[in-house]
Amino acid sequence: MRQAAIFWFRQDLRLTDNPGLIAAARCGQVLPVYIFDNVSSVPLAIGSASKLYLHHSLASLDQALQHQLNFYLGEPSLIILQLLKQHKIVNVFWNRCYEPWYVAADELLVKQLRALKINYAIFNGAYLWDPTTISNASGSYYKVFAAYKRKVLAIAPSKPVLKPENLSLIKDVSNKTVLDDLLLLNSPQCWQHKIMHHWSYGESAAQQQLDKFINNALAGYKTARDYPAQQHTSKLSAHLHFGEISPQQIWAAVTNSLNCATVDGQHFLSELIWREFSCYLLTYFNRLPVDNLQNKFNTFPWRHDHCLLQAWQYGNTGYPLIDAGMRELWQTGYMHNRVRMIVASFLVKNLLLHWHYGRDWFWDCLIDADLANNSASWQWVAGCGVDAAPYFRIFNPISQGEKFDSQGEYTRKFVPELKNLADKYLFKPWAAPTTVLKVAGIILGDTYPYPIVDLAVSRQQALAAYKSL
Ligand code: FAD
Repeated sequence: MRQAAIFWFRQDLRLTDNPGLIAAARCGQVLPVYIFDNVSSVPLAIGSASKLYLHHSLASLDQALQHQLNFYLGEPSLIILQLLKQHKIVNVFWNRCYEPWYVAADELLVKQLRALKINYAIFNGAYLWDPTTISNASGSYYKVFAAYKRKVLAIAPSKPVLKPENLSLIKDVSNKTVLDDLLLLNSPQCWQHKIMHHWSYGESAAQQQLDKFINNALAGYKTARDYPAQQHTSKLSAHLHFGEISPQQIWAAVTNSLNCATVDGQHFLSELIWREFSCYLLTYFNRLPVDNLQNKFNTFPWRHDHCLLQAWQYGNTGYPLIDAGMRELWQTGYMHNRVRMIVASFLVKNLLLHWHYGRDWFWDCLIDADLANNSASWQWVAGCGVDAAPYFRIFNPISQGEKFDSQGEYTRKFVPELKNLADKYLFKPWAAPTTVLKVAGIILGDTYPYPIVDLAVSRQQALAAYKSL
């Protein structure tokens, strides 16, 4: 048997602060593997935009490993067992993922490894606090964010560790599968051409993005994070989802920065804790992506209207801020957080369409699509989650636009057909006099749609539907 270990990369595509990789390196040589599972029927297969991101992230990781990363297609446990045998290796390590299908796959693999007496270990490489270790005083799980936050803040997160020195890697020369064989770039929406140039991928890019954020945007974050035209959020979400950077690295960099003790630093750390809380909820309620956390929403009278859904998806609702957000998503694979909340509220409250439609669209279009964050956020906006926004909180896309994009910079960027419309009418073009529309080159119903629903009427309908529960 060789002094070696398999390290199985999943959502931890980095070398620094990677606990499973460090453990593997201690065994001697490392056979690094990435397996794209195209066999198991996972309930929510990876979305199109995420696939594109994953391709580039893997390319970057492969480069960091001097092109020694071994790619495979198929059922992970079968491939790992075969590799152990073929390379005479008796150690295998990986970092835990919390999506229910990964949990099930881990259970299956662990059973087989135990039967074969193979040494294995699973690490927490994705969260500041392993969700399975946090419980409340009665031994149950937290359902309120504030209480969860109080609890975890009393436990210092671990410090990030350096990447293993002198990694000695094994290349599986008999394996002919290469990154392109995973077919991650073959999306029907041509995401590759649309969104690729908006992003940088990989561990170094993630570190640079973090440094840039801390130096230029952390000061002022608490207030400015709500203004979509300002570059005041970290844009670390995809890097975090794919594990190109660990939350420990981000936490340590922010707590060591000058802004740590300010409201900005504290607010940013709190957002990282929301990420932890979403994963925590998914761990204790693995139906989070599917079932309403509040059962009373099970009888909610949702509407079924494909035309309304399509208008929302492609940014043709006639509400400029909604359309700007949906087009930002479609063109870049990302949407600003405040706008995510506004478009989500519009879908479930003004259009009365089930949050599952929004969940699925975001899942396919977001480069940062994350099962825990996406599911928890949709439930939060829809009002059916734990500790959720109250149902009667219905965002008004006109006043939100006037407040958070008052100069119209964001809206005009993504809805250029309105670029010559005066600020006064930008968020309600139907209210502009005909002469104003004419001067701006807008023909409602032709160059830009009329609103697909009336805000006041749809708001009343939403409240009535909620009362009917
Ligand atoms: P920053 O403001 O810089 O925040 C830093 C990090 O904190 C983020 O990268 C993210 O990891 C975490 N974070 C911030 N806000 C939240 C939040 N509300 N919940 C959980 N974690 C948060 N985020 C995803 O990563 N993946 C998703 O699939 C996703 N779907 C969403 C769906 C809806 C309907 C809504 C309202 C929000 C969703 N979010 C999701 C949360 C949030 O919008 C994004 O994390 C954020 O916009 C990413 O931009 P950023 O990295 O610049 O955020």
